[in-house]
Amino acid sequence: MSKQTFVIVGASLAGAKAAQELRERGFDGRVVLVGSEPERPYERPPLTKDYLRGESEREKVYVHPAGYYDEHEIELLSDVTVTAVGPKASVVVLEGGHELAYDRLLLSTGSEPRRIPVAGEDLEGVYYLRTLADCDALRARLDDGGRVAVIGAGWIGSEFAASARQRGLEVTVIDPVALPNERVFGAEIGAFYRDLHVRHGVRMLLGRGVHAFEGRKAVSRVKTDHGEIVECDFVVVGIGITPRDSLARDAGLEVGNGIVVNERLTTTAPDIFAAGDVADAWNPFYQRPIRVEHWANALNQGPAAARAMLGEDVSYDRIPYFFSDQYDVGMEYSGFAEQWDEVVFRGDRDAGEFVAFWLREGRVVAGMNVNLWDVNQHVQDLIRSRREVDVDALTDTATPLESLTPESAA
Ligand SMILES: Cc1cc2nc3c(=O)[nH]c(=O)nc-3n(C[C@H](O)[C@H](O)[C@H](O)COP(=O)(O)OP(=O)(O)OC[C@H]3O[C@@H](n4cnc5c(N)ncnc54)[C@H](O)[C@@H]3O)c2cc1C
Repeated sequence: MSKQTFVIVGASLAGAKAAQELRERGFDGRVVLVGSEPERPYERPPLTKDYLRGESEREKVYVHPAGYYDEHEIELLSDVTVTAVGPKASVVVLEGGHELAYDRLLLSTGSEPRRIPVAGEDLEGVYYLRTLADCDALRARLDDGGRVAVIGAGWIGSEFAASARQRGLEVTVIDPVALPNERVFGAEIGAFYRDLHVRHGVRMLLGRGVHAFEGRKAVSRVKTDHGEIVECDFVVVGIGITPRDSLARDAGLEVGNGIVVNERLTTTAPDIFAAGDVADAWNPFYQRPIRVEHWANALNQGPAAARAMLGEDVSYDRIPYFFSDQYDVGMEYSGFAEQWDEVVFRGDRDAGEFVAFWLREGRVVAGMNVNLWDVNQHVQDLIRSRREVDVDALTDTATPLESLTPESAA
């Protein structure tokens, strides 16, 4: 039996999956999973979707069944915050001052919502959405109906707006951007999502920011920086997240856009690792650091970090992937495209069943399949091939996508 102790700080998807991987790989030392939240590890995507709308049960959000941690001798310390990491002494300090020594440490502390710096932000009825507790409070507000102002047309704001409309609320979305997620996807896809919300009766107030939230005790109006007044019963703010990297920063580890790790998910201290939303990880495929704020990254990077903690050869080079569901529109996106020359479409844009490809110098750098399934792996193969594509073939639904990747051409 190993006498080693592996400590994981952050008991969410990345942390829980790392603990699972340690046991599945036969690690028989001590595994301690420490998390600030009172809940056992759960997944966040249902918190803007079915669980928020009251369509699925709470039990379905959890990463593992209740008995899993005891059965696998994973010491889950819920409702406990780590206040400091001491890399020299190889200890973490728990709130209250208790120290826990580690042989290897994984930081999977995730991210937290960016606060909006405007007057009235502290009024009652101004919500953020990150935790199950946030979601439970909003679920109850949806039961009451009424009018909600959603600040931010990114994924959290958009998915919340869709769910609120589906529950029959009056919804106004406010964002300074001209089109939802335009910076990441460009005008075509931005317009597609704007129109989707407009078709479902959402008032899209784009091109303006928030000047202030107003109300006596609770928020009752949002004043935009164009002077419009939006009357509301409550507000949901989704304006992005910041990585929770202060433990690493205070411990003297390198921090950039999150905790800096190499392709082995190892920080600048050789026995400390990071994974999930908080990790600014060197990606060998892109030859640059990338921090991914999505579910699949936490799902895959947690176990990869666990393997690295066990001394296995790890090179985390996955292509970023995420999904979103809004109304009856589901999509998957793969890739990493900061710049592109054009976006081309395959399929039926009017019917909302298509694959969009972002092309740079004739190569696919990202792809999004909307209401079409079982194609995302092909999109990833195209990206990974770095091969120049024939745009006519790419956009012709009669040409199978798999025929455009090098293996099939060989
Ligand atoms: C509402 C919502 C909907 C989403 N929907 C999608 C989606 O549809 N598709 C998609 O791809 N992605 C989605 N995401 C993103 C996805 O959920 C995240 O990428 C994922 O949760 C990241 O997991 P993580 O384990 O890295 O970090 P987190 O889930 O942020 O968890 C980190 C945990 O660490 C704990 N912690 C932090 N500091 C300490 C400390 N000092 N001591 C102890 N514990 C600490 C926190 O309390 C938290 O529980 C959504 C996110 C949210 C919030």
